[in-house]
Amino acid sequence: SYDAKAIIYKEYGEPSEKIIVHDYKVESIKNDNEVLLELIAHPINPSDINQIQGVYPSKPELSVNLFNDESEVLKEASAICGNEGVFKVVEIGKNVKGFAQNDWVIPLFPNFGTWRTHVKLDMKGEAKLFNLNKENEKTKRFAEGNGGLSVNQAATISVNPCTALQMITKFLKLEEGDWVIQNGANSSVGKFVIQVCKNLKINSINLVRDKSSEENPQYLDELKSELKDLGADVVVSLSEAKEDRKLIKKLVKDVKENNTGKVKLGLNCVGGESCIPLIKTLDENGYLVTYGGMSKKPVILSTSSLIFKNLTSKGFWITRNNFQDPEEKQQTLDQIVHFYQNKQLVDAKSTHNIWKKGIAPSEVLALYQKALSNSSKNIVVY
Ligand code: NDP
Repeated sequence: SYDAKAIIYKEYGEPSEKIIVHDYKVESIKNDNEVLLELIAHPINPSDINQIQGVYPSKPELSVNLFNDESEVLKEASAICGNEGVFKVVEIGKNVKGFAQNDWVIPLFPNFGTWRTHVKLDMKGEAKLFNLNKENEKTKRFAEGNGGLSVNQAATISVNPCTALQMITKFLKLEEGDWVIQNGANSSVGKFVIQVCKNLKINSINLVRDKSSEENPQYLDELKSELKDLGADVVVSLSEAKEDRKLIKKLVKDVKENNTGKVKLGLNCVGGESCIPLIKTLDENGYLVTYGGMSKKPVILSTSSLIFKNLTSKGFWITRNNFQDPEEKQQTLDQIVHFYQNKQLVDAKSTHNIWKKGIAPSEVLALYQKALSNSSKNIVVY
């Protein structure tokens, strides 16, 4: 058996106060359809935090039977934290096809409970795991079992890069040379959007906030060159776009002298005023896709953009897509793995919190509380 720990909560509230370290044993697999996984790493995403707070629309049900193991029944109904993460196959039943020991795998569905050291799963029925070391026409098997991905890439592959790729490919057929315009372009999703566009030979216009200050007068210039290095064609601050309403069109023209591509897709994760350059720049019949509301302000969609440009406004939520179309999720993952293997994608940096094996529950709790209080992107590495 394995000494396992899981981070659980039994009531909603502030994560650092509500999380509990549950200490238990996981027995070896008992039948040929089972796999036993050990955690490699998981991120701490805003949606994980919102689930513990009880304010996220998709959350696991609280239950006393969390562990697929009859011997481990909790006294009070609880849920395991975490949606995204990468695990290693440590035991595998002989009926389980497409996986081998030491392969790196990620859950295909949200609400998996990734903040735990060990998971035992019955693999009969619908696909539950995606093998990063899978072999198909796009990806090949790697000896190490990790598909050639780093811990950071593997732990964070399932949400942000997939969001970027699906938004770019799902709503309309973009041709080479077409344009995408986005706000919040320096967010991690935004940076994946820039790179995916570049890989698909689509051009991108990127709006950011100018946070230059006396202490950091170079902020905007540095941000522009960082995003251009990732493959951005045009980077403009919201204030520059507001001051000169023709600026974006002029810059687009400067980048591609004979460009006939259209601005067909606008991606909005901010809301409020920062929608204006998007709807003004989109061409006729364009799509405005909203996937976040960082400013907490409503989406601005002018009457004229709807009537005279015939814009379509849609929302996007990767969680809904995963449930509705698991097959599409697997195809998206194949493509992202392929981009990483070809060095066509740079992952978002994160702070790594190392969970040393065998440490006491109180130390595990302290580790999570520290990671939760840290404002940068965090992953926990086991
Ligand atoms: P990051 O934490 O990497 O980046 C946050 C971004 O939001 C930055 O560009 C930041 O700009 C901007 N921002 C923060 N506060 C404000 C504000 N008050 N007004 C305007 N802009 C602001 O975020 P992620 O890439 O992880 O996520 C981006 C968004 O995408 C989030 O809303 C997230 O919930 C959403 N998301 C949605 C998914 C879906 O399926 N719908 C999936 C994944 C993410 P600055 O640097 O200038 O502060």
